[in-house]
Amino acid sequence: MQKLKNYINGELVEPQLGQYIDNAEPATGQVYSQIPDSTAEDLEQAVVAAEKAQPAWAALSLEKRAEILTKVADAIDGHSNELAKAEAIDNGKPFSLAKSVDIYRASANIRFFAQAITQFSSESHAMGNEAINYTLRDPIGVVGCISPWNLPLYLFTWKIAPALAAGNCVIAKPSEITPMTAYLFSKICNEAGLPRGVLNILHGTGPSIGNPLTTHPKIKAISFTGGTSTGAHISRVTAGMFKKLSLELGGKNPTLVFADCDFEETVENVVRAAFANQGQICLCGSRIYIERPIYDKFKAAFVEKVKSLKIGDPLEPSTQHGALVSKPHMDKVLSYIELAQEEGGTVLTGGKQVTLKGRCRNGFFVEPTVIEGLTNDCRTNQEEIFGPVCTIMPFDSDDEAIDLANGTQYGLASSVWTNDLKRAHRVAKEIEAGIVWINCWLLRDLRTPFGGVKSSGVGREGGLEALRFFTEPKNVCIKY
Ligand code: NAD
Repeated sequence: MQKLKNYINGELVEPQLGQYIDNAEPATGQVYSQIPDSTAEDLEQAVVAAEKAQPAWAALSLEKRAEILTKVADAIDGHSNELAKAEAIDNGKPFSLAKSVDIYRASANIRFFAQAITQFSSESHAMGNEAINYTLRDPIGVVGCISPWNLPLYLFTWKIAPALAAGNCVIAKPSEITPMTAYLFSKICNEAGLPRGVLNILHGTGPSIGNPLTTHPKIKAISFTGGTSTGAHISRVTAGMFKKLSLELGGKNPTLVFADCDFEETVENVVRAAFANQGQICLCGSRIYIERPIYDKFKAAFVEKVKSLKIGDPLEPSTQHGALVSKPHMDKVLSYIELAQEEGGTVLTGGKQVTLKGRCRNGFFVEPTVIEGLTNDCRTNQEEIFGPVCTIMPFDSDDEAIDLANGTQYGLASSVWTNDLKRAHRVAKEIEAGIVWINCWLLRDLRTPFGGVKSSGVGREGGLEALRFFTEPKNVCIKY
């Protein structure tokens, strides 16, 4: 069985304590590889390597750093089929999605920040005839990046790219549930000529390696994407250490469908927003509010479209709906479907585990599920399920739609479907979320601020926001 390795100082190495954990393929339920269960000992080795590499990496010209990162992006493109297949096997997502979204974006993330750093500038402030201030933006030093399982290489690169571009050295931890593409990526970094120690990748669980990473005194900033409770834990354990923290956390995103929307286009996109990646995207719209005059018509068209999604082996080109990432996660999703019915909800379609034939007979497949008849304050509508489950509810006015949308602890993303320009602007302003899409969903411009409010996080990623996070500003004031 394949044993993955850590990536420290440009080398693939075994964990010092020699401990490994199993890694299963969600579509088959079979363990197919093992990953290092890294510990503080491995971290120490990575910190030494990163500290040693950092001054030379920071001293490289921006053009040279950009050139090396562009070679890494090129190497991802060169291995895109292999990476997409590995992502589909490791995560359960359809190969077609892995290729067109995950791996495409992994390369785009690195290419984007390679270019962005060459355009990054800092401010100067003149004080009349008295003095001039200018701001230096230096790299922080050694930083930590921790990413989740739902978009494994996509989110891993979304964090490390700005950190590296800004001149930091990175110690990164992918999710232990989907480690494979980060492992393949370490080989790609060597192939592309990334200098030793600039990026170090440690595999393992939150308690074994995540905790030591977030609390290590020499790691000055942590960029984390994952669940809200893990984010709260990281805030607690780092309190008093004065680290920079960027926390991208959970969501329970509203989709607002108004009667004047472009009907067919809206149905199509609201289905995608609810069920892409089996509903396991932090941005998925899982609470769908529909203006009453079109509620019945929309419900019928929406349910019909959801029923048509093809569930199957993630490696089959025609598959639209793959496996959930793990057995515990599938059990959690199924328990929420049960809860929704106990809370008075009616399942309009889906609701059950799917048993496929052949290779995938033991896989973690759940039907795309639509539920109606619930109140906004029930647990099904308040808690993040993070699976192929959405609820639909009618509303009667713009104000009611806004209140329903804002009625959870979360505030990550939202989408609004209307042809009324005034309404679109007003609703966008009133929604408590870091991201509002009007007549679209997951349309991304990497220059824009990305992140959430309320329990969905602290700080913003994307474009200049990320480069500012990964640099330390210093003001210099010179008297004339
Ligand atoms: P998770 O919080 O369980 O794990 C995320 C990462 O943190 C993993 O690498 C994990 O090993 C690590 N970790 C766990 N405990 C840790 C600890 N004590 N210290 C340090 N690291 C620790 O989340 P998950 O289940 O992997 O991902 C799903 C969650 O991520 C969902 O809530 C989803 O909404 C959220 N998410 C948010 C965004 C966003 O941009 N806001 C994007 C994707 C996913």
